[in-house]
Amino acid sequence: MITEFDLSADEIALIDTAKSFAKDYIRPRAAVWEASRKMPREALKEAAKIGLTYLDAPKPGKMPISFAAKLLVLEALSEEDMGFAFSLTNTQGIASRIATDGTPSQKERFLADLQSTERLGGSALSEPGAGSDFSGITTSARQVKGGWVLSGEKAWITNAAEGDVFLVYAQTDPEKRWRGIGSFLVDGRQDGFEPTPPLDLLAGHAIGTGGFKLNDMFVPDEDVVALPGEAFKTAMASVNNARTYVAGMINAMVHSSLRHAVTYGGTRQAFGKSLLENQGLKWSLVDVANKLEASRLLTYRAASLISEGQDAMLAASHAKKFAGDMGIQAIADCIQAMGARGMRNDIPLGRHLACAKLACYTDGSTEIQNERIGASLGEVYGDD
Ligand SMILES: Cc1cc2nc3c(=O)[nH]c(=O)nc-3n(C[C@H](O)[C@H](O)[C@H](O)COP(=O)(O)OP(=O)(O)OC[C@H]3O[C@@H](n4cnc5c(N)ncnc54)[C@H](O)[C@@H]3O)c2cc1C
Repeated sequence: MITEFDLSADEIALIDTAKSFAKDYIRPRAAVWEASRKMPREALKEAAKIGLTYLDAPKPGKMPISFAAKLLVLEALSEEDMGFAFSLTNTQGIASRIATDGTPSQKERFLADLQSTERLGGSALSEPGAGSDFSGITTSARQVKGGWVLSGEKAWITNAAEGDVFLVYAQTDPEKRWRGIGSFLVDGRQDGFEPTPPLDLLAGHAIGTGGFKLNDMFVPDEDVVALPGEAFKTAMASVNNARTYVAGMINAMVHSSLRHAVTYGGTRQAFGKSLLENQGLKWSLVDVANKLEASRLLTYRAASLISEGQDAMLAASHAKKFAGDMGIQAIADCIQAMGARGMRNDIPLGRHLACAKLACYTDGSTEIQNERIGASLGEVYGDD
C-alpha cells in the first residue's frame, strides 16, 4: 500500500486504533445498522471514547493530527462502513470550526457535546430546490436587533436525522447571489427549528441524511460565523479537504471489496480449480487493483498538498472524480467475481456500492468536478 506520509508516532497509533475499531467493532455490526435504517449512536460514542472524534480539534495538550493522518483514519473506518465514517467526520467538522474560531460561549455550549457525540451536527448548504447551484439557495436571513431571523428549509443534510448543531448557510440579499450568503451557527434546541423526516435511501443510513425547517428562527449576532460575502468563500475553501477524504473513503471501499473478492476467488472451486486460476476472472480483479492504485496516488497527492498548506483545488477534484467513476465500476466488478455470494448482506459489497454512488454527490457531484477541472483546461494544458 502507498502511504508515503511522514506521520508522527501518535498519528500511527491513532490510525492503528481506527483499524482495530473498524475490524472488531464496526465489521460485525454494520449490516445490522443498515438493516435498522438508523444511525448507530452507540457506535459513535464508542468511537469518541477511543479518541476518534478529536481528529480535527485535539484534546487539550495534544498536537493536532495532520490531514494525511485524518484521511487514513477515515479510510480505515470506511473499509467497514463509509456511512459511519462520513457521519463521524461531519460532526467533527463543525466541532473543529468551533474549537478554532468559536467564541468562549460557543465552546461552552457545543464543543464537549459534539466531541463526545452527545450531539451531532454538520454543515447545511443544500435545500430541496438547490444542490449543485449553491448560490441559488433561498433560505433567508433577515437582520433584526441583536441578530438575524432565519427562514427556509434545508435538505440532504448529513447527521440531520438525529443532529441539532448546524452551520447553516442563508441568503441575506438574493440579488447578490453568492455575495449575499452568510453562515450561522444554529442550535436546534432553540425555538424555530423543526426537523423533517430522515431520508429513506438505498443504503448509507449511518450517515443520518435528513433535513430541517427554520421557522423564523432567531440567531444572535454572536452566532454569525461568516458575514455575507465571506461565507461562500469559506465553504469553497473547506470543500477541497472533504473532496479528498471522500475520494479516500471510496478507495477504502474498493480495497475492502477487492479483499473479499480475492479471498473468495482463491478458495471457491469451479470446473476443478479455484476461480482465481481462470485468467479472465483474475484479470478483471487485476484491473480493479490497477485502478485502485491509480486512484490512491491521486488522492494522496491531494492530501499531501493539503497537509503542506498548498492549493489543492484541482488535485482534490481530480481525486474525487476519478475515485467516484472508478469506485462504482470496481465494486460492481468485485461483486461479479464473487457470483451470487457477492450480493449477500452479510458481506459489505452491496452497501459499499450504494455508498460509492452516494459519494458521487457529496461535496460536489462528479459533474461539478468536471466543471472545476474544465475551467483549468486552458491554463494547464493549453498552448504556452
Ligand atoms: C449522502 C449525502 C449526504 C449529503 N450531505 C450533505 C450535507 O451534509 N450538507 C449539504 O449541504 N448537502 C449535503 N448533500 C447534498 C449534496 O451536496 C448534493 O446532493 C449535491 O450538491 C448535488 O445536488 P443535487 O443532489 O441537488 O443535484 P442537482 O444540483 O439538482 O443536480 C442534478 C444532476 O445534474 C448535475 N448538474 C448540476 N449542475 C450541473 C452543471 N452545471 N453541469 C453539468 N451537470 C450539472 C449534477 O451533477 C447532478 O448529476 C448530501 C448528499 C448526499 C447524497
